Amino acid sequence: MPALHADMRKSSKGKAMKVPLLDLKRQYVNIENDIRKAVDEVLASQYFILGPNVKLLEEKIAAVCGTKYAVSCASGTDALLLSLMALGVGPGDEVITSPFTFFATGGSISRLGAVPVFVDIDPDTYNINPDLIEGCITERTKAIIPVHLFGQCADMDRINAIAKRHNLSVIEDAAQAIGATYKGRPAGSLGTLGAFSFFPTKNLGAYGDGGIITTDDEKLYDLLSILRVHGSKPKYFHKYIGINSRLDALQAAVLLVKLPHLAEYNDARRLNAQRYNKLLEGLPVSCPVETPDCRHIYNQYTLRVANRDDLIACLRENGVGTEIYYPVPLHAQECYADLEYQAGDLPVAEESAKEVLSLPIFGELTAQEQEYVAKCIADFVLKR
Ligand SMILES: *Cc1c(COP(=O)(O)O)cnc(C)c1O
Repeated sequence: MPALHADMRKSSKGKAMKVPLLDLKRQYVNIENDIRKAVDEVLASQYFILGPNVKLLEEKIAAVCGTKYAVSCASGTDALLLSLMALGVGPGDEVITSPFTFFATGGSISRLGAVPVFVDIDPDTYNINPDLIEGCITERTKAIIPVHLFGQCADMDRINAIAKRHNLSVIEDAAQAIGATYKGRPAGSLGTLGAFSFFPTKNLGAYGDGGIITTDDEKLYDLLSILRVHGSKPKYFHKYIGINSRLDALQAAVLLVKLPHLAEYNDARRLNAQRYNKLLEGLPVSCPVETPDCRHIYNQYTLRVANRDDLIACLRENGVGTEIYYPVPLHAQECYADLEYQAGDLPVAEESAKEVLSLPIFGELTAQEQEYVAKCIADFVLKR
């Protein structure tokens, strides 16, 4: 056992520190004045739905994501739903996606009466395994939704090549990956459409729900802009049956204050990830694997470890917040029982669900807090 870890075990016997999984207040105190000013301006204008703030945000997000267009909407879930609607996905269609993701990825497919077809993941990145996609394509397949899980892009060149061969569209579920890159190109510019979430825990979080869709395709852009306002253009003339899904002007104002800080927020998370990698080196835990093509932005820092549940209990006892993303893969969810997947069908996703846990990684986390978290982990894994 390395001497460092022996010392850690002793010092971790001291009283418990509290390290939350995420503390948004630490970010807020640094931008509070700007946020209050921006929110006050919206209140003074009494202009709440769409409008100039929303338009400006859409232009700025398109620029960050390297696309011609961006259409905002009410959530990341709606960004996926509207994307599928714009592609004409409906009953009887199949959409290939990852089982190891937040429920919205599969739910948005099912909402339209289409069938999610789950393809197992790569054990290192937890992203959809491109080797397994082609075997799941049928004449009903309409699209592929790769998820850039935890903030690292899926293997998009290979996925796009498959999509091209079979004439399929690709929607990036980039909810966790704003500012991530793949071979130098930003998430959101890698498929037909990119779906992002502004849920408060994402790397660019609003103060409520919000989402946005990026694309280079002018026709899809026009269609999405109509679908989010009940399919009407002009107002009260309905060419399509759309939905009501718009970004609030208040959320846009908040996001316009935060967007200039996004690069710095992502860099801080990357630095924290490197720090954990060093602190946990040599221990019997698997740290996140960064693939050389990707710039990971660590929406989550996710470990794989045997005896995961005991480690979580131990960390909780020591005041360290953790979470399991995700405890049940989508194909094993109760609501998808009718899809008739069996245990063992998607073994990598199923094993991952039993072994992963995510640690506090937010940008304002201190080095001391990370050292403490690592000490607690070392203490646990070395004593056994
Ligand atoms: C957060 C998230 C969504 C949904 O976003 P909401 O804004 O919460 O609707 C979809 N997919 C993934 C992978 C997510 O992490």
